[in-house]
Amino acid sequence: ERADPPGALKISVIGCGYLGAVHAASMAELGHEVVGVEVDVEKAEALAAGRVPFFEPGFEELLQRSLASGRLSFSPHMKAAAGAAVHFLCVGTPQRRGEYAADLTYVEAATASLLDVLGPGELVVGKSTVPVGTAARLAELVAERVPEAALAWNPEFLREGFAVQDTLHPDRLVYGVADSAAGGAAGAGAPPVDAEALLDRVYAPIVADRTPKVVTDYATAEMVKTAANSFLATKISFINAMAELCEATGADVKQLADAIGHDDRIGRKFLNAGLGFGGGCLPKDIRAFMARAGELGADQALTFLREVDNINMRRRIRMVELARQVCDDSLLGKRIAVLGAAFKPDSDDIRDSPALNVAAQLQLQGANVRVTDPQALPNVRRQWAQLDCVDTPEEAAEGADAVLLLTEWRQYKELDPAAFGSVVKTRRVLDGRNALDREAWEAAGWTYRALGRRNV
Ligand code: NAD
Repeated sequence: ERADPPGALKISVIGCGYLGAVHAASMAELGHEVVGVEVDVEKAEALAAGRVPFFEPGFEELLQRSLASGRLSFSPHMKAAAGAAVHFLCVGTPQRRGEYAADLTYVEAATASLLDVLGPGELVVGKSTVPVGTAARLAELVAERVPEAALAWNPEFLREGFAVQDTLHPDRLVYGVADSAAGGAAGAGAPPVDAEALLDRVYAPIVADRTPKVVTDYATAEMVKTAANSFLATKISFINAMAELCEATGADVKQLADAIGHDDRIGRKFLNAGLGFGGGCLPKDIRAFMARAGELGADQALTFLREVDNINMRRRIRMVELARQVCDDSLLGKRIAVLGAAFKPDSDDIRDSPALNVAAQLQLQGANVRVTDPQALPNVRRQWAQLDCVDTPEEAAEGADAVLLLTEWRQYKELDPAAFGSVVKTRRVLDGRNALDREAWEAAGWTYRALGRRNV
């Protein structure tokens, strides 16, 4: 017998990828009755059977617990969302092909089909990362079709690899709500739905935890997300620009980062020089932000983000160059082991992965590349069929002329350099993430090279 806590709501979560699947199971964990609507039938079926279609630490347990509670279900059909008090929009907003702008076709299609089942008194809540102005436009569509419904924007800040923790214990909640001075979406009197009160009910335990909450207008809420990602990308590119300079001067970027990071105003987090950022968020989000600024006639405000993007992409080129240099100035026929394929550790996400970008460039320059990763290989085999994948670092490194660490998985940081050295042809390691214990590797007879470090 299911005992729902007081205040439990019926909730739908539309789009069950990295964000939506975790959100759906987390909302059930908070005691709500949740249906996840996912158009990809295979994904919906896997989730309903308690199988996670991607790698995310701790998520499988959460999913299975929520399913077992009877509070969570999945469906490929939008009609399953009918009657929910709150509908979360969690579909993808990738970069448009050949452009910087965000592709909003999924958001638009999901909204259009949601409007067919949306009822009065219900709240649509956008979580996807969208260009500023999107929420206001969607709110008009809602108001036209169901004047007694409302829309809010509630951006999501979860990090892949920490998605469960970040969803249940976020640093802050941001609610973008209709401007009540304008009389709400209905046009007169009080707004048809009290979005803030309803979201407080959804997130009751999180609100009770005294999580900081910002209630604001749509535009600010949308911008909080893109501004936060732009800041993080800038911080990474800042330290990578310092790494370029360190390479030119013989200074050491790791010590530099430690030293400046001791200043609270700067902070040490996100100051790890290396191969730079990738993934399904930072690159496309800063590009979409620049594109949107251009549309709004404010492109000058964000020209610095183009440089942030440039610095980031240059690291990949530099890594390939460094590999060529250590391989006696030619990659032709050289055997290279690539450790890591995911865009970051603790994830199987390979969207815009710096590691795969480098692996592909090495291969195009004639190297014989073998890629390994603890979690991402199924995705690599599906999407990068031209790359040779092997299951273990030892297989990747067998007979290698050089080993490249490109994603800093714990198991690679813990490799024993002496034992690992016995499988390679030449003990050369390139640390693309400044993650290895340089002294230990050098002591085991390896030539160690890294980005932004003294390479002598
Ligand atoms: P994703 O591609 O993994 O998931 C999107 C899902 O939506 C897919 O499973 C897709 O099949 C489904 N979908 C598409 N159209 C649909 C429709 N009409 N009805 C139902 N389902 C539909 O993407 P993601 O990484 O989960 O990102 C989703 C959004 O969240 C993006 O805007 C992203 O920028 C944002 N975001 C992502 C993260 C993250 O770490 N992944 C963090 C914060 C914000």
